[in-house]
Amino acid sequence: MVLILDTTLRDGEQTPSVALSVEQKVMIAEALDNLGVDVIEAGTAIASEGEFKAIKEISSKGLKAEICSFARIRKEDIDAAADADADSIFMVAPSSNIHIKAKFPGKSEKDIIEMSVEAIEYAKSRGLIVEFGAEDASRANFDFVLKLFDAAVDAKADRLTFADTVGVLIPEKAENIFKALKERFKVPVAIHCHDDFGFATVNTVFAVKAGADEVHVTVNGIGERAGNAALEEVVMALEFLYGIKTKIKKEMIYNVSKLVEKLTRVVVPPNKPIVGENAFAHESGIHTSAILKDSNTYEPISPETIGRTRVIVLGKHAGRASVEAIMKELGYKANPKQMNEILARIKEIGDKGKRVTNADVKAIIETVLQIKMEKKVKLEDLTVFTGMKSMPMASVKLKINGEERVEAAVGVGPVDAAINAIRKAIKDFDVELISYHVEAITGGTDALVDVIVQLRKGNKIVTAKGARTDIIMASVEAFMEGLNMLI
Ligand code: MN
Repeated sequence: MVLILDTTLRDGEQTPSVALSVEQKVMIAEALDNLGVDVIEAGTAIASEGEFKAIKEISSKGLKAEICSFARIRKEDIDAAADADADSIFMVAPSSNIHIKAKFPGKSEKDIIEMSVEAIEYAKSRGLIVEFGAEDASRANFDFVLKLFDAAVDAKADRLTFADTVGVLIPEKAENIFKALKERFKVPVAIHCHDDFGFATVNTVFAVKAGADEVHVTVNGIGERAGNAALEEVVMALEFLYGIKTKIKKEMIYNVSKLVEKLTRVVVPPNKPIVGENAFAHESGIHTSAILKDSNTYEPISPETIGRTRVIVLGKHAGRASVEAIMKELGYKANPKQMNEILARIKEIGDKGKRVTNADVKAIIETVLQIKMEKKVKLEDLTVFTGMKSMPMASVKLKINGEERVEAAVGVGPVDAAINAIRKAIKDFDVELISYHVEAITGGTDALVDVIVQLRKGNKIVTAKGARTDIIMASVEAFMEGLNMLI
């Protein structure tokens, strides 16, 4: 059993341009607790009033997880953590010459050891669990790291962390280091990795293989620079590839990932392992027909394991099987001749280098089958005001199943205002806009604008397109198309 220290709320929040409010931090902490992490590093109590408040608030929630604050080897950092009612501190001392010189100019290695011992003893006197970390340990003299850890353990540190602060560790080294640490120390040892070379997960896993008791991770791998080891990657690699258990409830991973993405506004790349939009999406015809027969053919794990569902995307590689799957979902049936016609038309769009949206496929199917579908949501009217000094504002009139709804909203721009007004009018349908993309603007200011949107309702995701010379109308059209497919 490997312990999970999640530092989404500390190292993760140090991601450039991320700042969470106290309420948002509490929401994420509660989600992490439900997910089953052992330690929540909730922030740095000394950093600001908001950080202090967030740690205090999270500590008051009675969560199962240990609540931890980051600290330097300074009395005021320890006091702030203790005053915020944290259970523990992750306290780091610089261990490489680069860090010692920059942070404590003029101090020797011996001085660092003395200051660390003093800080650990003080933290223990304030009733804190102390996880003591050697910062930049992967670029430090390993003998010094061992000496520093020896002194820390003598001073009653509860756990030790080897931090690969700038992500330069390699798996072979991680393995040797943790073998040595396990041989020498009885207290639990942890690894903290960064992803500067894309090695964060593999280094973390190799440390565990060699005996590490605890791993530092963040949801979606967010964190300083290229980020930290990703919780979802480390947990799934340990459990699925190495058979090493954690307490993480894997079926909750995807939802927590989405929550963190939403609140931090750090978008998960589509090709990100485990949680990326494409991680369980299939397009090519040969893959899709095999997947529909036996999902093991092209999926290492089933999407349900981590709480998500498979997505079949149609494109120019679309095969009969995937079109049939979509037809089934829509409740349509085609004869072989109609089917060939549908496939030919889908491929025609793809071959032109265009993205085939779900709306295109539905439109093609309905055209070929000559089905006229009444749209559930109709746009009756749209008015947008925009200017230099006034906030862009939009009002809409929608007809939903015959019922008229009128709403108005403001936005950062006219498109945002229009979409906000529509969202307001349909807020009871719980439809979420995942992505908005202006595909092609060619020619002059009167050229055709292609807008592609991705919308989600529950587990269902659709893509839809709007094509107009007016960017606001193209955006609204795309949104309405997607909406009609979802509800
Ligand atoms: Mn870090």
